Amino acid sequence: MLPHSSTDVSGTLYIVATPIGNLDDLSKRAKDTLEKASFIAAEDTRHTKKLLNYFNIEARLFSLHDHNEKDRAQYIAKLLDDGEDVALVSDAGTPLISDPGYHVVSYLRDLGYQVSPVPGPSAIITALCASGLPTDKFFFQGFLPAKSKSRKEVMASWKQQAGTTVFYESTHRIKDSISDLMDVFEDDVEIVLARELTKTFETFLKGKPSYILQRFEEDSNQVRGEFVVMLDYREETDADDNDQEAKRILEILLQDLSLKQASQLAAKITGLKKNYLYQIALQMQS
Ligand code: SAM
Repeated sequence: MLPHSSTDVSGTLYIVATPIGNLDDLSKRAKDTLEKASFIAAEDTRHTKKLLNYFNIEARLFSLHDHNEKDRAQYIAKLLDDGEDVALVSDAGTPLISDPGYHVVSYLRDLGYQVSPVPGPSAIITALCASGLPTDKFFFQGFLPAKSKSRKEVMASWKQQAGTTVFYESTHRIKDSISDLMDVFEDDVEIVLARELTKTFETFLKGKPSYILQRFEEDSNQVRGEFVVMLDYREETDADDNDQEAKRILEILLQDLSLKQASQLAAKITGLKKNYLYQIALQMQS
């Protein structure tokens, strides 16, 4: 297909974020866009119809999901050529974020059509900003593989990952995923579990995998609903790496120096505290 040159008469595809629980989180601009668009492409038309009914928006819906995306991309291009505006929504949150829409957007953008975001809720950002975990750098895994073996392989790769790791999980697999985290990280990691965000039973649970599993046993409600799981392994990794390096240096220094001299010199080399290094050196000698 030839590149499309957008003209004044071409329509725009709007990528519209919708609430992830609390319907009042639909922005004014999102509501206006859904009202004004000629058509709304929805992941599940019945689901979106409920949202539209709540806001008294007339439904002009067609479906757009993983199985018809490629055909729909061409259909939407035709609508835009005819000067119609189209809004793309998913069941909840921001479309394309672990939701359909990627093929449509990449197809239309490559052809030069106008694609414009109408930002709003997304579970990942909603969870992260209230988690208390570092937000300067984060890695989004989306959903994990269904099989435990593959899941653990993916989890193991996070040990090399800088920043907070975030993934989406459903009620059906949350226990298994936390058990897998326990196997892979051996309880050496802090997890924050964000459940039912913006809804009545919104909960943040923080602790090591063993604690989270214990809470699941104590209260079966903790396993209900939708989850964003976040973990920060960075501190643990840094501390371990520092200790390894300190031990290597101390081992060399202790061959020629006293415990006190070795820890003083190691403190200058590593930037770690002298007393801390003294304790490590003591343990090495015992
Ligand atoms: N597009 C959505 C977004 O922007 O967040 C994500 C859609 S994905 C199919 C659904 C997953 O997002 C759920 O299984 C859960 O992991 C997460 N999620 C969505 N709403 C949530 C909520 N209210 N509380 C916690 N997690 C939620």
